Amino acid sequence: MLGTETARRCCSTPGPASPREEVTQIEHTTHKKAFVYRLYPTRAQEAALERLLDLTRELYNAALEERREAWRKGKSLTVYDQMRLLGEVKTVRPEYQGVYAQVLQETLERLDKAFQGFFLRVKRGEKAGYPRFRGRGWWNSFTFPQVCRSGGWVGPGKPLGNGKVKVPGVGHVRIKQHRPLEGVPKTFTLKRSAGEWYAIYTCEVLPQPLPPSEEAVGIDLGLTHFVATSDGETVAPPRTYRKAEARLAAIQRSLSRKKRGSNRRRQARRRVAKLHRKIANQRKDFHHKIARRLVNKYGTIVHEDLNTSGLARSRLSKSVLDAGWAQFLRILSAKAASAGRRVIAVKPHNTSQICPQCGLTRKKELSERIHACECGCVLDRDVAAARVILALGLDGAFGDGQRVAAPA
Ligand SMILES: [Zn+2]
Repeated sequence: MLGTETARRCCSTPGPASPREEVTQIEHTTHKKAFVYRLYPTRAQEAALERLLDLTRELYNAALEERREAWRKGKSLTVYDQMRLLGEVKTVRPEYQGVYAQVLQETLERLDKAFQGFFLRVKRGEKAGYPRFRGRGWWNSFTFPQVCRSGGWVGPGKPLGNGKVKVPGVGHVRIKQHRPLEGVPKTFTLKRSAGEWYAIYTCEVLPQPLPPSEEAVGIDLGLTHFVATSDGETVAPPRTYRKAEARLAAIQRSLSRKKRGSNRRRQARRRVAKLHRKIANQRKDFHHKIARRLVNKYGTIVHEDLNTSGLARSRLSKSVLDAGWAQFLRILSAKAASAGRRVIAVKPHNTSQICPQCGLTRKKELSERIHACECGCVLDRDVAAARVILALGLDGAFGDGQRVAAPA
């Protein structure tokens, strides 16, 4: 079953057999966690940050052009070749001399990642999408890739303890650290979002295991309920997007009336972006809360391996994007891994059409909200599905020993 791999990866209890040894190793390693803080740069600092954005973007575009050129001539150019050429860049363009070397290297690595992704998609026969030149609106961050060495700060991103943070080439920038950093900071990214600046630290943190729990749960993700559990609990979906939609539409209408290139249009665009960010943050909070609740209570959580991208293209698009299942499952997996809980993904398999009590398939229309079977089982449709998902995750056996046919 598809879930087995995932189960093994996230399994908390060290098992006896050899395939599990690998698991034990992964369990004790650290995982990455991002900490995001708002920055309050002065005007001069903001100008310096903007300049670094421009310089890194320009470097990215130049390096992309160089790769295209090499490709046309039938030569290959690696990221290391390009890094070696950074010295020359600094000779020709002295404004690059003041830029932290690793920031420039990281920019070239970003381009290299874009190419690796491109080659991988070509190999898989997918729609390839050649790496693109980045315009002003498509380049919003630069990164110091190494901020700590053997436990100590090497400089960039170091919080100075006076509400400020050290950013090479910019100065000591005011920061609002609403929660402390945890673990070992690895990278430090400066990001512009809708006219505001943020500092993002990626830290390696140790897992924080919870006391073991024997309880297992199946969860069904849907549109009627965001989550329905096999224990019969249902959680309403976040309606943040639609609630804010009216406001968004109003701002967007006023935006279309503003003259192109005008200051007022720029302000209106910023308001739209801010609203989008607010909605995204609310949704993320919601996902964190639900995931935290599930991970605290259950030792094993089984969900359907959803192909959200497939759904997102359908007519349900807005609701699906709103629900953000993929993000939720990522958050759930991260919390579970840290807490030493198991998360199992099972292949979607008619889960809403099977009776969790007798195992027989009972076709339902989408509008039928209640599962009622001849065997006497009457449940909310999504709760029934969650029970089937749980059964599939626990090797396909139902309470009375009946088995579901293994998914094809
Ligand atoms: Zn039944």
